[in-house]
Amino acid sequence: MRVLIFGGTGEAIDLANALVRQGHQVTTSLAGRTRKPRLPNGHVHTGGFGGTEGLVDFISRNGFNLIIDATHPFASQMSTNVAQACDQTSKPFFRLTREPWQAAEGDQWNNVQNIVEAAERLPEDANVLVTVGRQHIEPFVLRDDCKIFIRAIEHPEVILPAHVTVLLERPPFRLSDELAFMRDHSISHLVTKNAGGDQTAAKLEAARMLGTSVIMIERPALAEAPEVYSVEAALQHIADHSAFAA
Ligand code: NAP
Repeated sequence: MRVLIFGGTGEAIDLANALVRQGHQVTTSLAGRTRKPRLPNGHVHTGGFGGTEGLVDFISRNGFNLIIDATHPFASQMSTNVAQACDQTSKPFFRLTREPWQAAEGDQWNNVQNIVEAAERLPEDANVLVTVGRQHIEPFVLRDDCKIFIRAIEHPEVILPAHVTVLLERPPFRLSDELAFMRDHSISHLVTKNAGGDQTAAKLEAARMLGTSVIMIERPALAEAPEVYSVEAALQHIADHSAFAA
């Protein structure tokens, strides 16, 4: 089969590698934002398509049998474009995403809709661990009445004021490290997107254990589509739908 995977996640790489091992022709599409991305086996396309119209053109020209949206749960523009383009080209597609996190007993979560609302929820003098990536940090940087720790894989492309500290770290994160960091820096608030999955979930357990408030940014709504929550489930979904190969 000719398979097109929209990536930008570890799961997309694992799925591409597994499908290549099974003998499929796989193309993974990356946005091209990361300077040194981990690359999957198979073909790699880097950069945007110019919206849904460009995507329809790319899909039509390349004769893919199956399309998989394995972008991050917060890459909502791309997920919307993929759903529309597959609809317009009548191509089968499904989503490989991560099961959203749910609050458990003892959690102190404040659910918010977006980054701006998250920054507004912080009280004065809060010590804040911000784990939303490096791209949309401005509302936190503007909170000069708080001490802000921004955790990201790459450094933000802006000069930051003294109340902001950048921690360059890559998942997975261990509970013992999360506990030590939050204790050592007296973190009062944790800000996170509801990305789901295991690799970054330890911070939530640490926050529960320490009584730290969590500001949880809810997922953007997406169009209805079949969804699976693991690479194994994605491979099974493909095996169960052999008509994809037609
Ligand atoms: P987005 O807002 O949903 O997409 C903005 C535009 O970037 C899209 O319209 C598309 O441009 C291009 N694009 C996004 N993903 C692409 C892909 N996989 N291949 C080709 N073009 C892509 O996306 P985002 O939130 O900025 O995320 C960018 C990438 O980083 C995604 O691949 C995502 O999986 C990954 N990522 C995002 C987050 C997050 O929190 N948002 C976290 C970790 C990783 P055109 O319209 O020109 O086609």
